[in-house]
Amino acid sequence: MQTTFSLSQLADPQTAESEKILRACVHCGFCTATCPTYVLLGDELDSPRGRIYLIKEMLEQGRPATQEVVKHIDRCLSCLSCMTTCPSGVNYMHLVDHARDHIEQTYKRPLSERLIRGLLARVLPNPTLFRLAAVGGWLGKPFAPVLGALGLKRLAAMLRLTPGRLPASAYLTGKLFPATGKRRGRVALLSGCIGPVLRPSTNEATIRLLNRHGIEVTIAAGDACCGSLVHHMGREEQALAQARSLIDAWTAEAERGALDAILVTVSGCGTTVKDYGFMFRNDPAYAAKAARVSALARDVTEYLAALPMQPGATPPGLTVAYHAACSLQHGQKVVHAPKDLLSNLGFVVKDVAEGHLCCGSAGTYNILQPDLANRLRDRKVANIERLKPDVIAAGNIGCMTQIASGTAIPVVHTVELLDWATGGPIPEQLARKGEGRAG
Ligand code: SF4
Ligand code: SF4
Repeated sequence: MQTTFSLSQLADPQTAESEKILRACVHCGFCTATCPTYVLLGDELDSPRGRIYLIKEMLEQGRPATQEVVKHIDRCLSCLSCMTTCPSGVNYMHLVDHARDHIEQTYKRPLSERLIRGLLARVLPNPTLFRLAAVGGWLGKPFAPVLGALGLKRLAAMLRLTPGRLPASAYLTGKLFPATGKRRGRVALLSGCIGPVLRPSTNEATIRLLNRHGIEVTIAAGDACCGSLVHHMGREEQALAQARSLIDAWTAEAERGALDAILVTVSGCGTTVKDYGFMFRNDPAYAAKAARVSALARDVTEYLAALPMQPGATPPGLTVAYHAACSLQHGQKVVHAPKDLLSNLGFVVKDVAEGHLCCGSAGTYNILQPDLANRLRDRKVANIERLKPDVIAAGNIGCMTQIASGTAIPVVHTVELLDWATGGPIPEQLARKGEGRAG
């Protein structure tokens, strides 16, 4: 693709990077067929190629973002399905990140939009505030249909996404979990922000599983939100500040004792942590540290795939519909490890039709774009239910919450099944289902 940036524009490293990305696009349009918003809306401007043109024009002109551009960029899920499809290696992720940053800096959203975005950016990354909000959401959950009928769709979406019952939070920051028996490795685990509130059992299962296989697990003092949620909202300064503090926490942890890996159980966060090296490439104080952190970052299933797993006495033999989170399959290109681990431990693993399409979760997307998100969720759930699985496994809390809001089939993190199959307790969602049957 031809570009017409001026030399002074190209002096800005972010613009120079985006120009390289734009030039790689040969506008073949292969990406349109696998873009969820194009599949739903059929509008070229809601396809990757259309958005690339909009971003090109916006950045070349160096003018504030227009309402039209904002509308189509806001509808993008950042699912990165287009990057998997693109034969030319166009890095759409870095391009749309730049566009979102430009929008945030140049476009004044309507007041209601600013309020809800400000609220999400303040509450979601803070586990204490988020837990309070989740308790409020749990109390207000029965009113979701009323709010929806009154046109307050985003509030209704927030309430609908609140789980039916809130587990006790597990704040594990600053704790060390020693290996059982001979220590064979040492890793840091990202505890994170939303995960420990909505599903503390994921990190608990991860720690049990790793300890049982001889791996010491540490959760760094200062472990907190990785910045992913606000990064996808274009709030670059806030995202970089959150990332810096996590990089410092892990750097200090690595100085206390060598780390084999930094493990992440939320694939959306893992994609961002793996990108820290790029995000800080022009920051002399953080470039090297960030690159080190990114090089160590692994999805938990990537790390487990290299461990000799010890099966429990009775393989569960359940049918698992494996939902491939976009951030895991498209963002991190981790495709086989979760399914292979499950199959090797005795589960019958089934792929979901249209597995490349997003479930509609996408960070805060299911709150900010509830109509499109619900359509994608319903399509995903229909494809899953056709498989008649006993359980749905996924590697991202956002997907788990989104899918669980549309089906009665239990949804668990992949690692909870792996823990169970190697001697850990049955995941709570499956135990409850069993109780329900018995009752
Ligand atoms: S598939 Fe790649 S090269 Fe083709 S239009 Fe899409 S982004 Fe551009
Ligand atoms: S990231 Fe997803 S929604 Fe956005 S343009 Fe690419 S395929 Fe479409």
